[in-house]
Amino acid sequence: MPSASRGYVIAPSLFDNPDRVSSPRRVEFFKPERIILGKGSLSNSRRRDLVERICKLYPAGEVIEELDTPHNRISLDDSNSLQLHYRGKQTLVFGEHNSAVRLSEEQDNTCPNYWHFSPYGFCPYDCKYCYLAGTPGVKFSPTVKIFLNLWDILNQIDGIANKLAKPTAFYLGKLQDGLALDPLTGYSQIIIPFFAEHPWARQTLLTKSADVDNLLKLDHRGHTILSWSLNPACVCLQFEAHSPSVTDRIKAMKKCAAAGYPIRAVIMPIIPVEQWEKVYADFLSELLENVQFERITLGGLCSYPAALRLTENKLGPDNVISQALGSNQENLPDGRSRYPKSLRLKMYGHFISVIRRYQPELDVSLCLEERSVFESLGLTSSLGRCNCVL
Ligand code: SF4
Repeated sequence: MPSASRGYVIAPSLFDNPDRVSSPRRVEFFKPERIILGKGSLSNSRRRDLVERICKLYPAGEVIEELDTPHNRISLDDSNSLQLHYRGKQTLVFGEHNSAVRLSEEQDNTCPNYWHFSPYGFCPYDCKYCYLAGTPGVKFSPTVKIFLNLWDILNQIDGIANKLAKPTAFYLGKLQDGLALDPLTGYSQIIIPFFAEHPWARQTLLTKSADVDNLLKLDHRGHTILSWSLNPACVCLQFEAHSPSVTDRIKAMKKCAAAGYPIRAVIMPIIPVEQWEKVYADFLSELLENVQFERITLGGLCSYPAALRLTENKLGPDNVISQALGSNQENLPDGRSRYPKSLRLKMYGHFISVIRRYQPELDVSLCLEERSVFESLGLTSSLGRCNCVL
């Protein structure tokens, strides 16, 4: 537990009352074939209990004990990168993560850098463009992970936030989907009250999940900002396999808005499908008529070579994303590939004009973009006011 010298002490009731957390429920689109109990999985009764209850939901899943192996050393023994990727998506790993709270390290783009935390690793959904799939940690061990040392993670956040002593966002959704596994763990019922009670720490969360039942009755005090990653239905169908439909995501957003949560949207990656101008304009119109947002962030594809190779393995070399990136991919100083700047400006400009028609005062920002793009679009006042930060 945090020391008494800190400004805020996590209430023991947050951790010691199992009734706070609802029983695990199965997660849509996730049916692990194997469940690996990694290092730290069974090291106390609270962890053992949660692991046992989740395993019971998947009686057909083979349970394998690797209690000396840290979560990031679990090997799936497959040399084919695509097969390894899909084997990983069907593997649930329990473990503990001792450096789960970190400051992002973006350079050479406008991202303001931010604190992020990881009670989960990776994600059960199968977005064809997923940039995470190519990051070093996921590439080696692309399993879906639940970290059981949540108490330590929240204590680390508590220590950092008290030291900073000003309202500070901690982002859940950088190295995982922020909510996809919540029906299994019920973690939101601990995390959201933690942020609600904290004088400085705030949560920003990004998800594609539509299962928000655990969140609706919590006293969040506006200290958790929920954001959804969205694309038009036809893009979602083509590129976001095994994930909740966009209609269901919008229903979830409306429920959370009615429960008083601040709601944001991230339209990313924008994909220039056929007739993209109309497809996205219709989608944005419907979205803005249905949900009151506090901020929208736009972004194009922004990915690393290993992730793009996996995208091409899944979609074939002639897919619309690779075509839009072109043979002359803009490999910018931050090492990411993006669409040509002319296309990005055209897409953002079009979307901003649609957004302004419906909610003229709405905060609109861009994700991981260049300063010159903000300037060309008249968005310099939005620099550093994007999705992961307050
Ligand atoms: S939801 Fe996010 S993390 Fe999960 S597969 Fe899609 S892009 Fe990757």
